[in-house]
Amino acid sequence: MSGPYTQPLVYFFGQGRAEGTAAMKDVLGGKGAGLAEMTTIGIPVPPGFTIASTMCLHYLETQQLPKRLQAQVEAALHRIEAATSKHFGDGANPLLVSVRSGAAVSMPGMMETILNLGLNDVTVEGLARQSRNPQFAWDSYRRFVQMYGTVVFDLPKKPFDDLLEERRERHGVERDIDLPLDELRAVVREFKARVRTDAGRDFPDEPLDQLWGAIAAVFESWNTRRAIDYRKLHDIPDAMGTAVNVVAMVYGNLGEDSGTGVAFTRDPSTGEACLYGEYLLNAQGEDVVSGSRTPLPISTLKSRLPAAYNELQRVSRILERHFRDVQDMEFTIERGTLYMLQTRRGQRSGHAAVRIACEMVDEGVISQEEAVARIPPNDLNQLLHPMIDPHSHLDLLTAGLPASPGAACGTVVFDADRAEQLGRNGQAVILVRRETSPEDFHGMVVAKAVLTARGGMTSHAAVVARGMGKPCIAGATALHVDEEARSFTVDGRRIAEGDWITVDGSSGRVFAGQTALIAPALSGNFLRLMQWADRIRQLRVRVNADTPADAHRGRDFGAEGIGLCRTEHMFFEGDRLSAMREMIVARDAAGRQRALAKLLPIQRTDFEAIFRAMEGHPVTIRLLDPPLHEFLPKERAEVDALAKEMGIPADELQRIVDQLQEVNPMLGLRGCRLGILYPEITAMQARAIFEAACTIAERKGSVLPEVMIPLTATVVEFRRQVAVVREVAEAVFAERAIKVPYLLGTMIELPRAAVTADELAREAQFFSFGTNDLTQTTWGISRDDAAKFLPQYLEQGIIEADPFEVLDQAGVGRLVRMATELGRRSRPDLKLGICGEHGGEPATIGFCDHLGMNYVSCSPFRVPIARLAAAQATLAARGTMDRTRATV
Ligand code: PEP
Ligand code: MG
Repeated sequence: MSGPYTQPLVYFFGQGRAEGTAAMKDVLGGKGAGLAEMTTIGIPVPPGFTIASTMCLHYLETQQLPKRLQAQVEAALHRIEAATSKHFGDGANPLLVSVRSGAAVSMPGMMETILNLGLNDVTVEGLARQSRNPQFAWDSYRRFVQMYGTVVFDLPKKPFDDLLEERRERHGVERDIDLPLDELRAVVREFKARVRTDAGRDFPDEPLDQLWGAIAAVFESWNTRRAIDYRKLHDIPDAMGTAVNVVAMVYGNLGEDSGTGVAFTRDPSTGEACLYGEYLLNAQGEDVVSGSRTPLPISTLKSRLPAAYNELQRVSRILERHFRDVQDMEFTIERGTLYMLQTRRGQRSGHAAVRIACEMVDEGVISQEEAVARIPPNDLNQLLHPMIDPHSHLDLLTAGLPASPGAACGTVVFDADRAEQLGRNGQAVILVRRETSPEDFHGMVVAKAVLTARGGMTSHAAVVARGMGKPCIAGATALHVDEEARSFTVDGRRIAEGDWITVDGSSGRVFAGQTALIAPALSGNFLRLMQWADRIRQLRVRVNADTPADAHRGRDFGAEGIGLCRTEHMFFEGDRLSAMREMIVARDAAGRQRALAKLLPIQRTDFEAIFRAMEGHPVTIRLLDPPLHEFLPKERAEVDALAKEMGIPADELQRIVDQLQEVNPMLGLRGCRLGILYPEITAMQARAIFEAACTIAERKGSVLPEVMIPLTATVVEFRRQVAVVREVAEAVFAERAIKVPYLLGTMIELPRAAVTADELAREAQFFSFGTNDLTQTTWGISRDDAAKFLPQYLEQGIIEADPFEVLDQAGVGRLVRMATELGRRSRPDLKLGICGEHGGEPATIGFCDHLGMNYVSCSPFRVPIARLAAAQATLAARGTMDRTRATV
C-alpha cells in the first residue's frame, strides 16, 4: 500500500535540521516546505512540525485520524519540547504552539491561524512568570480563547469583538493588552462562558485536546465555501488537501522591543527592489493582516529596532537569492530577536512581475528564458489595464493606499452577494467595504475594483485584489462606509449604491462619476520582455482587426499581420449601413449593382488604410459572413422609418425582412453561402481589396492580401468563390497594369471542412481555424445561447472550462489536428493559423504551437499575451520550462 500508510505523516524542523525540503510542497504544503528549507539553510525559525497534506483527505473521508499519526505528533511535540526546554501543558514552563493550515498552493479562505495554543488556567500563570509580564500572558490567553472559539467552534466573531470594544472603551484604552489584569481575566472567563452557551460544549482545557481540535479544524477548512470557490477559480484540484503546521510560539507582544509583520523582498505593486512591508510593535501576527490596527511601513522599523531591521534585510537577501524569486515573509521579533515564520513566492501585480523578472535578469539571478517562463501570460492584462485619461475632468472624492494598480469605473455596491448578482449580469461594479474578509471573495471575483476604508497594503482586500489583477484602494480612512444603508460618505458627500465612481489603484485616488480610461503602451521593461519572448517563439502572432485604428493598435502591440479582418464590421454604421441596406432590398441585379457601387469606395478606403498600417505584413480579409437580416431593422416602427428613408413602401420592406428571417440564422444563409447566392457581393469586395492593394503597390509600398472564404463546407463552394475573386483580381491587375501577390484560403469552422481538409487544401493556400464556429458546430451548442446553461455545466463539473474560451482540445482540437494533418498532406506548405477567440488564450496557443501552426491571431489587447504564451510554448516544448511556474 502507498500513501498515508507508508510515508511519514509528520515532518519535524528545528535546530538547523529539517526532515522536509522546499521540493516537498505537495506533501508539506507551501508553508511547511518553506519552514523546512529555511531551517536547513540557517534562517532563524522556531522549531515545529508539519503534518502531511495526505492526512487531510483521509480525515475528510473517514472523520478519523490514524493512531500512527497520534504517535508521530506526540513524538514531534517532544522534540519541540527538547529544542525549547519548555513543556506542553507544564504549569511552570509551558510550551505554546501556533497551528496553521498550508496547502501546496497558497489559498485564501483556509483556516485562520490559531496562536498561543496550550494555554489554560494553569499554564497562563506559568507564562506570566516566565515572561515576567502577566498582562501579556492574560492577553495571549484571551486571544487564544477568542480565536479558538471563532475558528474551531465556528462561532460568530462579532460578539467577541463587541465585548472587547466595550471593555476598551470602559477603561479608555486603545489596545486589548492595556486592559487591567483583572479585566483581562474577566474577559477570558466571559469568552469561555460564551463558548459553553453558544457552542454547547466546554472550552477544552487539556492542551492535547486543544491541539487535536485545531488539527481537525484545519482539515475541515479545506471544504469551506470560500476555499472551494477559490480552487474552482484557480483550477486547483480538490484532492490536493492541506497540511498542518504546528510551530513553537514566539511572541511579538512582549513589549515595545517586540513586534510582528509581513515583508516582501521587493515591492509587490511596483516591483521596486527594496524591502517592503508592514509591522506592528507589541502585537501578534493576526493584528497585522486583520487590518484592525493600522500597521507601520517597514522602513520605520529601521529606527525603532535597528538590529532586528538589519537582520530582516540580511535574511531577505538570503531568501531571495536562495529561492531565486521574490519572497513574501512573515516574521516576529521577540525581545529584539528576529524569527521567520513563513516564506513563500511573493504574489505580485503584473507590473511588478515584469519589472522584477527584468531586473533579476540584469542582476544575473535568472536568465532571459526564465524571465519569459515566469510570467503568467494573462498577468500582462494588468499592464494593458486602462489608465485614467489625463485629459479627463476629475472629481476627487478621497485617496487611500494604492494597493493594486489599474483604473476602473463602476457603480458602487456594498456587499459581495450584491456584487456577484450585478456583476454576473454584466454590470460594472466596484465593491466598497469597511474592510474585506474571505467571505467577500465571490464578490471580489466579479467586481471591477475593490475599495476599503480600513486595512493596509497587506490587508485581505489588497492581497486578494493584487492576486486577481484588479485595482484596489485600501485604507481610504476618510470614507464612512454604512454597509446597512448601502452608502458611504466622504467629506459630507454621500455616494449610494448604484452611483458611479472611478478608482485609480496605481495612485490610490477615488473619483466621483465615470471617467474616460485609456490603455497604456508597450515600453520599458515590458518591451524588453516582449523582445526576449519574440526571440524564443516559433509561432507568429497576428491581430484580429476590422478598422485601421485596431490595425495600428495591433501593430503597436507587436502584431505581425492581420489574421482576421471581419469585413461585415465595416458595414454596420452610418452611410455604409444605408448602402448595405439598399443592396439587400434591391429589386433586381441592376439595383444591387448600384448599391454595391456605393459600398466599393468605402471598402477600398478602409482596406488601403489597413494595408498601410500593416506595412507589408499579411492581411487576411474575410469576405462577408453574417446573415443579411442582421443589417435590417426588427421592430415594425423601425421598418416604417427605414422604408421612409429609403423611399420604398413599408410593406415591401417588411416582406423582405420577413423573407430573410431564419429559424436558425447561425446555421443559415451566412458565410460563403451569401457569396454563392450573390456573387456580386464577393466581386465588389474583391475589387475593393485589389484596387486598394494596387494603390499601395503603385506607391512602392509592400502589401500582402490574403483573401479568405468563410464558413466553407465543401470544396465546391470554395472553388466557386475563388473563381469570382480570381477573375476580379486579374481584371484589376490588367486595368492598373500592376500585379500584387496574394493568397486565397478558407476558414475551417465546420466539421465537414475539417474532415475534408485534404480536398480543400488542394485548392486553398491557407487555412484559418475559426474555432468559435467550429466549437459551436462540433458541440452543437449555439454561441448565442451557451451562457444559459454552460455555467451549470461548469458548476456540475460536466466540463472543466467553457469551450468557447479555452479550446476543447479533446473534441474540437481533434478536428483541428485532423485538418492540419490532412491539409499538409495535400499541400506541404499550407499556411495554418487560428483566428477564433481562442487565438489569445495561453493554453490554446500551446496547443497550436504543438500542431506546428504558423500563427495565432487575437484581439489587439491580447497580442502581447499571445507573444508571451507562444514563447512559453516553445520553452515547454524544449523542456526548459516548469509549467507550474507560470500557471500557479
Ligand atoms: C470563428 O468562427 O471562429 C470566427 C473567427 O468567425 P466569427 O467569430 O466572426 O464567426
Ligand atoms: Mg465564424
